[in-house]
Amino acid sequence: MISKKIKEVIQLGSAIRAMFEEGKRLAQIYGKDNVYDFSLGNPSVPAPTAVNEAIVKIAKDTDTLALHGYMLNSGFESVRKAIADNLNSRYGVNFAFKNIIMTVGAAGGLNVALKSIINEGDEVIVFAPYFGEYNNYIANVGGKVVVVPPNPPTFQPNLDNMKKAISKRTKAVIINSPNNPTGVVYSQDTLKELGKILKEQSEKKGEAIYLISDEPYREIVYDDAQVPFLTKYYDNTIVGYSYSKSLSLPGERIGYLAIPDEAEDSENLLVACGIATRILGFVNAPSLQQLIIEQCIDEKTDVSAYDKNRKLLYNALTEYGFECIRPQGAFYLFVKSPIEEDKFVAKAKEFNILLVGGKSFACEGYVRIAYCVSYDMIERSLPYFKKLAEETVK
Ligand code: PLP
Repeated sequence: MISKKIKEVIQLGSAIRAMFEEGKRLAQIYGKDNVYDFSLGNPSVPAPTAVNEAIVKIAKDTDTLALHGYMLNSGFESVRKAIADNLNSRYGVNFAFKNIIMTVGAAGGLNVALKSIINEGDEVIVFAPYFGEYNNYIANVGGKVVVVPPNPPTFQPNLDNMKKAISKRTKAVIINSPNNPTGVVYSQDTLKELGKILKEQSEKKGEAIYLISDEPYREIVYDDAQVPFLTKYYDNTIVGYSYSKSLSLPGERIGYLAIPDEAEDSENLLVACGIATRILGFVNAPSLQQLIIEQCIDEKTDVSAYDKNRKLLYNALTEYGFECIRPQGAFYLFVKSPIEEDKFVAKAKEFNILLVGGKSFACEGYVRIAYCVSYDMIERSLPYFKKLAEETVK
């Protein structure tokens, strides 16, 4: 019989995955072009051609045993050095290869970080709305999720409420900017203040409260929005990065953790993360993917395609009367539900529009629209969004 814990996870399900499945079902009935599936954050911009060229080159030029063999759990030193150098030149930080741990995407990195720091019963603070999988990752290591309520309409983290949420058992705070699901980029002032509070509170506690910065959308920003690099504002920061969105490689499972020397217990923490990578069963991040990253360190995704989608959808939906914050990053719109959330999601489905309810992100009364889809699909969907507005917006 399966475990009670996994049974609970199955019962709670994933509304995002369920909608994605529903999209496939509806496409069989109505035809692919007549279903408007905005449920999943799967990049629609293809990976840069340099990625596929790198695969061929690496396969041809790299010694087969070195390419396919076991390695250090933390990853190839040359790859980690390339990432450290890149971060140093972009953000004026001071990483060496040892500060970088290669991970199996952001999800792998978050699990490794949490495994390395959380004792049974430790609390992890998250800001709603947040990526629902955090609940599972924190539960995996016996931690307790403490939710800071949403702060509309800006959705910047409410730091007074964070302060109130901190207790003797607080071990970490997770933030995600640019944010899934709101598209909000946390401001430099907010992050500086966040760092200040965590420093004070760590001193009071006599032990570090780690800040885990989950950054799969770091490169996906619009209108010159700046995403501050957190280790500059707070020493006890663990940066979790992923190439899933920034190079459109979500199926390849590659990312890294960056931990500065200034973090409390940094040396042990880096060792712990290497070991956590092994004992969680990843062993190491995929070797071919690591080498691709080294070759493609300066490659970028075509953010202009997402920006075009963002403008089309945001302008149209606000014109129809929907309320939502103009996203500055990632590829999501977080729209206020004009009627009760479940009813709105169901109503949208009547027009073959698939959305994910805010409840999946601990923020009831909203819906998330993932606009990492084709521009054509958005254009085709607009008349139906208009009808949806006519039937729901007062
Ligand atoms: N964190 C956030 C906020 C995400 O939106 C996602 C994926 O959508 C992840 C983590 C997991 O990313 P990865 O594919 O790199 O594991």
